[in-house]
Parts: sequence; C-alpha cells; structure tokens
Amino acid sequence: MRHAHIIGAGVAGLSTAVHLLNRGWNVTLHESAGHAGGRCRSFVDATLGCRIDNGNHLLLSGNGAALEYLSLIDAADGLTGPDKAAFPFLDLKTGRRWTVEMGAGRLPWWIFSEARRVPGSRPADYVRALRLAWAGERATVAECLGADNPLFKRFWEPLAVAVLNTAADEGAASLLWPVIRETFGRGEAACRPMIARVGLSESFVDPALRFLAGRRAGFFANHRLRALSLKGDRVAALTFEGGDEAVAAGDAVVLAVPPRNAAELVPGLIVPDLSRAIVNGHFRLPAASGDFSFLGLVGGVAQWLFVRGAVASVTVSAADTLAENDAAAIAGRLWDEVCRALALGEAPLPAYRIVKEKRATFAQTPDQVRRRPPARTPWKNLFLAGDWTQTGLPATIEGAIRSGRKAAETVIWSGSRA
Ligand SMILES: Cc1cc2nc3c(=O)[nH]c(=O)nc-3n(C[C@H](O)[C@H](O)[C@H](O)COP(=O)(O)OP(=O)(O)OC[C@H]3O[C@@H](n4cnc5c(N)ncnc54)[C@H](O)[C@@H]3O)c2cc1C
Repeated sequence: MRHAHIIGAGVAGLSTAVHLLNRGWNVTLHESAGHAGGRCRSFVDATLGCRIDNGNHLLLSGNGAALEYLSLIDAADGLTGPDKAAFPFLDLKTGRRWTVEMGAGRLPWWIFSEARRVPGSRPADYVRALRLAWAGERATVAECLGADNPLFKRFWEPLAVAVLNTAADEGAASLLWPVIRETFGRGEAACRPMIARVGLSESFVDPALRFLAGRRAGFFANHRLRALSLKGDRVAALTFEGGDEAVAAGDAVVLAVPPRNAAELVPGLIVPDLSRAIVNGHFRLPAASGDFSFLGLVGGVAQWLFVRGAVASVTVSAADTLAENDAAAIAGRLWDEVCRALALGEAPLPAYRIVKEKRATFAQTPDQVRRRPPARTPWKNLFLAGDWTQTGLPATIEGAIRSGRKAAETVIWSGSRA
C-alpha cells in the first residue's frame, strides 16, 4: 500500500490525510506543535475559566468541502447556526440596527423588498455585485463594488474584510466572487451562517484524529520537519528534530505548513510573503444570554460580535494596526463596543482574553494571489496543501480543506502514473 508523509496538522493537513486514507493510502502526520489544528483550534483559557477558540470562525452552509470533510470524519453535526440566512447589523455610530435577509431561490427577489435590504440601498446596488464575476486579476473589491454607497459600507465591506482578512481597497475581487457564487448566488439555503457547535477542535480536529487512529494512521505531535533531502526530482528523506526518515520509492510527501515554513523547506518556492493580522477579544458576560447569536458591526473597530453562552467574542480582521496595541488597551476599546451592541450600559470591563494572530492569513491582494503555488511541485513526490495554495478561494477553512482534497487527488493521480 502506498504511503504519504503529511507535514502539518492544520485543517489542510488533516483534510489531505482523511481523503488519502479514504482512498486506501497509508498516512503518517507530523506536527511541530504539541497539538493538531494549527490556526483553527480551541483551548482552555484560565482567565475566562472556559474553553474558547483561537478566533471566531464563521462558515456558510454553501461551504461544500468543509461539510463533506465533516461528514467523512463522522462529525456532520459539528456545525450549528440559525435556520435561516439572516445577517443582523448595528451601526455603532448611529445606533441604527437592520437585518439583511436572503430569499429562498437563486434569483434574489428579496432585494426588491425595502424591509429586507440594507437601509439606504437600492436594488441596482446589489446587481452591481455581478461586476465581481468579470473582475480582472488586478481589481480590488472596492474598485468593483464602488466604495461610495450605503450597501458597500453596511454589507459588502464588513463581509469582504472578514472573508479576505484584507481591507476592501486592497483585497482581491477575484477571490470574493467564488464565495458569492457558491453561497449567496445559490440562494438562502447556501448562505446560512454556521459556527462550530462546541468549539473548533471538537468539530474539525478531534474527530479527524479519531478517524486517523481508527485507520492506524500515525500522528506525531512535537515533530517538526527541519529539512527535506532532495535527490534529483524526488524527496529522498525527511529530517526531523529526532533524526532522519527515508522516503521509500512510491511514497509521497505533502507539505501542509504555512507559506513561510514551506519557503524555508523548499528551495526556490514562491509563496505569498505578506500576511494580515486578526484580533479577537473574548469577554465574560455578567449572565449567559441564549445559545448563540452574532451581529455585524459597522462604524467602529470590531466587525463581528458572537455571543455563545456567557462569552461575547468580537473579531477585528485586517487588524495589523490594532494588534500593535497592548491587550489592555485593545480590551477597553472592544468592550465599549460590546456594551453598546448588547445594551450593557457602562458595565465594567470583565475577565477577558485578547488573542492576536499576527499572521492569521496571507494578505489577499491581487499581487499576493499571483504568488500562490499549485499542489504539484517540480519534485515528483512532493506536494503542497494549505489555505495559501492555489485553490481559487480565499484563505478560509473551506479553502484549506479544499486544498487538502486537491493535494490528495494530485498525489493519487501522480501515484497512478508512476
Ligand atoms: C483568528 C482567525 C480567525 C479566522 N476566521 C476564519 C473564519 O471566520 N472562517 C474561516 O473559514 N476561516 C477563518 N480563518 C482562517 C482559517 O483558520 C485558516 O484558513 C485555516 O485554519 C488554515 O489551515 P491550514 O491547515 O492551511 O494552516 P495551519 O492551520 O497554519 O496549519 C499548518 C500546520 O503546520 C504546522 N507546521 C508548521 N511548520 C511545520 C514543520 N516544519 N513541521 C511540522 N509541522 C509544521 C503548524 O504548527 C500548523 O499546525 C481564521 C484564522 C484565524 C487565525
């Protein structure tokens, strides 16, 4: 049986492993950290006294590869969310609230209902989104959608910044279109917001590790790959901290590590080399308020607020400037916005945790998108996976999982021709 050595146990590496195991390959997964999950993980926070995710991760019901992966690892019930596609918003400057509610069919008749539209927007503003479909490689989101209309400020901008983790005036329009096409373009059932039912690790990571264990795949944490030994057009051996491991003829190596690490390991590999930060602020609320709710925020620092039980979490994407501040200063600013959003008056700052992910994703600008490499490399048995590889999608869970599926298909296809 053929064997794949997968380096990196984020969701891209896990997805590669699951798809290869499913097709009868043997798999060994090596991870440098003490745990799997990478940028998509949960941990116990002593200050808050509960388990939290490293960041709020929102998916949409049209994220087909993510749903397929969850079903393969027997975690099809791992996501939860409202049973209709409704996106509530608050303008922190004016206090105005509204909800964008999509309709059931592919044709967006709901844009003709003033009550379901963004305040101040006209049906023609929504039709303008079709420009994304023809956006050239160099176009930015703001150029395509026009930054001067209420729909942009009150819907497209917070959505695009969250999806691309890049400001709308530099974010690549070509990456936003596939998301719109696969979700909003397919009607209400494909654009329902979804989050992990308990936590990211409980949905995306732990069931995958159980899937691996059940198929006798090896998983080695604290096992950093230091170097690849390249001989001719193949990887001949892997150098880990503990020693070398030979790569047998017919075996494959999949690098599912972040772009900087891949560039250090593979000579001459061109990768996206700029990143953007995401800051999440988690606050303990005076009392639990229902199961789960979320709110889009405009006119402030935070873009999205999630409330789960007694913890309110806010997300700031493209947050490089904010991340320069110390945690206490960030907490003060974000808590003020949480109080306004949840009508908590001037409640004192509660227990909190600020999580700064300085390299949350690559900077999804047109120039950086052109640096994404494909799954195949010039070395016949070396393949790439990760949210930064050429998936045609933004750097998201859906993109990372799809990159893993693509890497597995490429490994199998190459193996069948060797
Ligand atoms: C705060 C935050 C919020 C986000 N919000 C969303 C969201 O709302 N919706 C969404 O869909 N996506 C979101 N994302 C993006 C999503 O988390 C990522 O796209 C996805 O997790 C990337 O997975 P990956 O496997 O490609 O990379 P990673 O998770 O980075 O995995 C790479 C793994 O490789 C390991 N590694 C590195 N070097 C080595 C080595 N030499 N040897 C062995 N192992 C190595 C690393 O430790 C890591 O575990 C968010 C990300 C962050 C950080």
